[in-house]
Amino acid sequence: MSVDVIVGLQRGDEGKGRFVDMLTETHDIVARFNGGNNAGHTVVLPDGRDLALHLVPSGIAHPDIMNVIGNGTLVNPIKLVEEIDDIRAKGIEVSRKNLMLSSAAHLILPHHIYDDQIRELSKGRQGSTKAGIAQVASDKAMRAGIRVELISDDPEGLLGIVFEGLMAQRPLREEAGLEPIDEAAVAKDYIEHAKRVCEFVTDTVLYLNQQLRADEPARVLAEGAQAFWLDVDHGMYPFTTSSSTTSGGVCTGLGVAPAFIGQVTGIAKAIPSHVGGGPFVTEITDVEQLKRLHGDMTTIDAEKGTTTGRIRRLGHLDLPQIRRSQMVNGIDGQQDMALTKLDWVHRYGDEVKICVAYALNGGRIEIAPDAAYKLEQVTPIYESLPTWQEDIQEVRQFDDLPQAAQDYITFIEGITKVPISLIGVGPRRDQVIVRDVLD
Ligand code: GDP
Repeated sequence: MSVDVIVGLQRGDEGKGRFVDMLTETHDIVARFNGGNNAGHTVVLPDGRDLALHLVPSGIAHPDIMNVIGNGTLVNPIKLVEEIDDIRAKGIEVSRKNLMLSSAAHLILPHHIYDDQIRELSKGRQGSTKAGIAQVASDKAMRAGIRVELISDDPEGLLGIVFEGLMAQRPLREEAGLEPIDEAAVAKDYIEHAKRVCEFVTDTVLYLNQQLRADEPARVLAEGAQAFWLDVDHGMYPFTTSSSTTSGGVCTGLGVAPAFIGQVTGIAKAIPSHVGGGPFVTEITDVEQLKRLHGDMTTIDAEKGTTTGRIRRLGHLDLPQIRRSQMVNGIDGQQDMALTKLDWVHRYGDEVKICVAYALNGGRIEIAPDAAYKLEQVTPIYESLPTWQEDIQEVRQFDDLPQAAQDYITFIEGITKVPISLIGVGPRRDQVIVRDVLD
């Protein structure tokens, strides 16, 4: 079993990037299996600079790692080229030696992005990132999508498709009041960017399977974007993304068989947050408390979306939702969990509330239900734990944490029955406590 998986257990922004970055050291390949440039990780480089990644896997900051953008992803070549240029500007090499792009991934075309903008201007808006994700996923499901392979197979044909898509959409853009565009120029610019990603395009499914079956099998780290509650099947539908964000999505999104899946590590953060619409059972609405929790909004770990810059809604830790994420991802006693932002818990005040179950129709449920409208009907049942005021950012051993912080971790483990093997105590790569908790 050589494909280890990192997935978010909440709604994204759990801090997956830093653990992918850390676990990369024991892997040979890092692969993205879902989503598009609507996602984002922030990795802090050894010299302290931060690197925002959207589609390129987090292994790019490490030498000797192959990074694979898998067939399950949705690719906007303009954004990918911008991202690659940005990474190179930080002095990091990006070439065919360390980056591959699946020929079977679907292309986000300019008219998808305009469609997204039009929808967001309408009554049916969903608070999307306006990156064209739902629109390209819909074309994929309709079997009308365009795949990356067309860039090298037939660039002239692709130019025609992009142009015609924009022309056909013109009346809709006009009706929605969008600025007029020069369709031919937009299409030309798209193709020019697309040609620049050609050097990375290959059959990544074949590549990954050959590497997994080699005499010395490669160790692959599958890096989940977004998170469980945004999964199109299992999340808080319809406030979800359009792809599969669970460990199961790794098999289809990379083309690897279930038998290859090894360790699945679920990442949660101590201070749940959400950007955009949708139910938030444990949301905090008290303005003063929110101010305290948000703190200094200029820091790298501020609760702002990496991709959108939108301020996040904040709440209390919600264990019924984490339990459902663990159940579907297969994270039980044999798998493990990471908890980030322990260093933020003191901002809740002298006590921190943890939601341990939900009340529904006079009864009690331990595992969250599976859709937005059902989540709207539950009320949280809380337990309170004492917090600590010591600065824990430089603590590296579990036993050196204040007793209240140790108890907080043990409390969560007791309810979820999943060991917490990694604890984030700050945004920097080294600000982590590693515990040997698996048998
Ligand atoms: P992802 O969407 O799950 O990949 O989230 P990111 O990796 O982008 O992390 C979200 C933010 O949380 C980034 O600004 C990280 O630097 C920050 N972060 C991650 N872990 C910790 C932690 O343990 N403590 C603090 N204070 N910030 C963290």
